[in-house]
Amino acid sequence: MNNPLYRSAIPDFRHVPGSLDRCSCCNNLNLSDISGDKLHEECGVFGVYGHPEAANLAYLGLYSLQHRGQEGAGICSSDGKQLYTEKAMGLVADIFSEKRLKKLPGHAAIGHNRYSTAGSSILKNVQPIVANFALGTLALGHNGNLVNAAELRKTLEDDGAIFQSTSDSEVVVHLIAHSKGESFYERVVHALRQVSGAFSLLILRENELVAVRDPYGVRPLCLGQVDGAYVFASETCALDLIGAKYIRDVEPGEMVIINEQGLTSLKALHSERRAFCVFEFIYFSRPDSYIFGHQNVNSIRKELGRQLARESMVDADIVIPVPDSGVPAALGFSEESGIGFDFGLIRNHYIGRTFIEPKQNIRHFGVKIKLNPVRELLEGKRVVVIDDSIVRGTTSKKIVKMIRENGGAKEVHLRISSPPTIMPCFYGIDTPTRQELIASSHDVDETRKYVTADSLSYLSMEGLLRSVRGAGDYCTACFSNVYPINFPGEHMEQLEFLFK
Ligand code: AMP
Repeated sequence: MNNPLYRSAIPDFRHVPGSLDRCSCCNNLNLSDISGDKLHEECGVFGVYGHPEAANLAYLGLYSLQHRGQEGAGICSSDGKQLYTEKAMGLVADIFSEKRLKKLPGHAAIGHNRYSTAGSSILKNVQPIVANFALGTLALGHNGNLVNAAELRKTLEDDGAIFQSTSDSEVVVHLIAHSKGESFYERVVHALRQVSGAFSLLILRENELVAVRDPYGVRPLCLGQVDGAYVFASETCALDLIGAKYIRDVEPGEMVIINEQGLTSLKALHSERRAFCVFEFIYFSRPDSYIFGHQNVNSIRKELGRQLARESMVDADIVIPVPDSGVPAALGFSEESGIGFDFGLIRNHYIGRTFIEPKQNIRHFGVKIKLNPVRELLEGKRVVVIDDSIVRGTTSKKIVKMIRENGGAKEVHLRISSPPTIMPCFYGIDTPTRQELIASSHDVDETRKYVTADSLSYLSMEGLLRSVRGAGDYCTACFSNVYPINFPGEHMEQLEFLFK
């Protein structure tokens, strides 16, 4: 942490009870063997098979999934004989010129948007990963995070494998290549049975496209159709842009194969339970998308806001969102509370998400660049500000100050449409370490004091789960410290070290 205020406001980091007991029986990993690696990624994937404009569709798909990753992007296409790959650092629209897309011929393609924090912002980590192996060539795009990747990588390297990147996804490629399975599908299943964690995977070969989702279904992945061609996408907003019809989600543990014979579905990996990432609803997915059994993200976020109002009403004159992530919840809060809604903070849309800036000092500056209060709406008012989450607390603090000092608000009441974020995510959402998460060491009133709000309330866990279908089907680890997928062979502290 570089912020001195944060430092002085936060006493020594307190362990969350029970959090370190979980892995006490596991073997330690020699971290020096993989020093410099940073395995943390979160991403968007898109795939299409059987369309003459495959690469163009992949481009559009990635364009609409840009919010899932802004660090780099790649597309790999197939004309039935060979694979063609184009990838670069940066945003989709900047990377793929018409000229570049023309270098991607064929009827099938997969694309990938990558999102990562400091340390491994390098081209070699941009996907799809392309590799030659005994059965030909494959390209792989992965959304999610594997929790035993470092351990598997070490075993593979001890066996002579040479890795091109520091990405956890490359482990899957090596496992497929090393597998003794006869068919390609057997190899993929054999590989995926060894990995632990979250994966929504697309694999392109010369003559087929394969999609697999981890047995828990942590990250979303859907199947659609356009002009008779099949498409896969992390979120349905990608289907909308290309005019594709949503067919269904790829089921947890399912492998879907698309080739000249059509579509084949295999129950490839055994599902003990589901663990859909609830944070996809809260923050990560786009509000116009339908995920996890076709539930609309916007509707869920609005319901989170309504529930928040039921739980923590406050006497106030105006409800304002922290744009854009707080907008649907603020609308819901306003609806339920009867307090009028308005846009009291205006966002500059021509900059990226401040959160992704790797350095703390840039992030501080970023809040001011990004948001400005509308004094006309706020002056002398009792203001309810709605945001989806508090991570480090630095954004919230700046926002509260801005609303009070620049906007002239009389009172600032902060309402958060999720429970306190107390633990990091190891399954593919970019969260900082526990020490940096303000709620891991501060109770609600301490956090309120830190962000200088007149009052602060979070949504309860019960309220969160009441707002989604199938309450038992979610991963809530970042709020509950209950991690549905174990970390075999790796302690939580080591994962935190690797991911940061
Ligand atoms: P902070 O100042 O660190 O508490 O940041 C809180 C803000 O970060 C909220 O406005 C959230 O919308 C946003 N946020 C939460 N999780 C993430 C994430 N994984 N990536 C980017 N932004 C996030």
